Amino acid sequence: MSTSQREVRVRFAPSPTGPLHIGGVRTALYNYLFARQHGGKMILRIEDTDSQRFVPGAEDYINEALAWLGIEIDEGVREGGPYGPYKQSERRDIYREHVKMLLDSGKAYIAFDTPVELDAKRAEIANFQYDASTRMSMRNSLTMPVDEVARLIADGVQYVVRFRIDPGRDVAVDDLIRGRVTIKSDILDDKVLYKSADDLPTYHLANIVDDHLMKVSHVIRGEEWLPSAPLHVLLYEAFGWADTAPAFVHLPLLLKPDGKGKLSKRDGDRLGFPVFPLEWHDPKSGETSSGYRESGYLPQAVVNFLALLGWNPGDDTEVMSMDELISKFSLDHCSRAGAKFAYEKGKWFNHTYLQTMPDADLAELFKPVMKDNGVDPDDFSDEYITRAVGMVKSRINFVRDLWDNARFFFVAPTKYEPKAVKKRWSEEMPTIMTALANLLEGESNFDGAYLEPKVLGWIEQNGYHLGNVMNAFRLTVVGECKGPHMFDITDLMGREATVARIRAGVERIKPVE
Ligand code: GLU
Repeated sequence: MSTSQREVRVRFAPSPTGPLHIGGVRTALYNYLFARQHGGKMILRIEDTDSQRFVPGAEDYINEALAWLGIEIDEGVREGGPYGPYKQSERRDIYREHVKMLLDSGKAYIAFDTPVELDAKRAEIANFQYDASTRMSMRNSLTMPVDEVARLIADGVQYVVRFRIDPGRDVAVDDLIRGRVTIKSDILDDKVLYKSADDLPTYHLANIVDDHLMKVSHVIRGEEWLPSAPLHVLLYEAFGWADTAPAFVHLPLLLKPDGKGKLSKRDGDRLGFPVFPLEWHDPKSGETSSGYRESGYLPQAVVNFLALLGWNPGDDTEVMSMDELISKFSLDHCSRAGAKFAYEKGKWFNHTYLQTMPDADLAELFKPVMKDNGVDPDDFSDEYITRAVGMVKSRINFVRDLWDNARFFFVAPTKYEPKAVKKRWSEEMPTIMTALANLLEGESNFDGAYLEPKVLGWIEQNGYHLGNVMNAFRLTVVGECKGPHMFDITDLMGREATVARIRAGVERIKPVE
């Protein structure tokens, strides 16, 4: 069946073995964009067949992270759907039945070799691989009498089921990004599909069976799964499902921001950026890893940033909403080459999204930061906070940066930046500033458009140095010589606060030699 006629059904299939890595988030995002663009379905399947690696809390973490980012799931453990259950540990009967199908058709066999015996073989034969060249010298249902196999199973001896791979075949994997990749079946080993010890299938079997039963049309996943693809092709064939096998899409790796190789958690620790969407508290080690959400990123910024790591819209457009990404996304513009994890760009996206947010919304996000810094937002009007935030937002990458830039709107300076004092607070400044305070005290109109020409005219009439006086003025009000336009500040703060700060400055600032 050609993929163009087929209903698009994709799945994100994480294993709950820890927090979802940012690369996994990108995989989920590309699946979602593709599904939405084609009016298809997005499935979330929890692949928890590796009981050894199961981590409590990981599944909730996955759900919470996807919800935070706005990646909506159509069918899944929580959402339900026509092809459930969507958690592999609840599908044992299905896998058992499918293992039996392969055993019955001779495509798989039962093997009793213990780990000790396998180790002995590895010691005996260099580069030992359980395959056509060695399987007839092992302890399995191909080499043992039928009744002995039955007896061992009846006695509860543990076994695995292995996939019987025929040598001498060319196995072609058609990947929508990479084209056709062909390998020789000889290099593959007879992979374990099922383990009686925990009555669970391995990843390969469960993954294939579920993709088939859930009618998955496209398998979009990270490049690290490409080596498994030939085996998956052979499994589809063994089940007789080759005609409806999903199309493969292996996404490029995320690479270190500097140097070569795959992005790792260590790179994040080393360079100071999160590699997880949400903060993660490891239940075993007690260690906390930082997350994009807790670090102050907006979900839209993270989505936009990730979307462009491995895909481009075909032009220079960078800022795109989820809806725009959905309409522009295309596998044709996904790259084969790994994408450098340029985390600074992530900050730029956050900055950019903060600029487009209405000031009133930004003010709401800022209120908890004010509280953290000991200022009660209720002491100020919403309008005051909103205007203050609007004046400094161009300087911030994160909401928390608003504090450093806007604190003077809420707390009068008690310290004055020494370098600025040295440069601007000359001996005559207390006198000039007192005169300025007196002038402003007599003004009832603090509208910037009125006050600015008024003050500048006064400076000129008195023959003062414009830069020195304005900087000294700023020093008394702000505490340092930077910040938004001075008459925007006074416009918002009003007469009383402005005059009080100038007078306090005159009292407190001492000239530095
Ligand atoms: N459970 C695998 C993982 O953790 C799924 C790989 C796939 O998408 O086939 O990524």
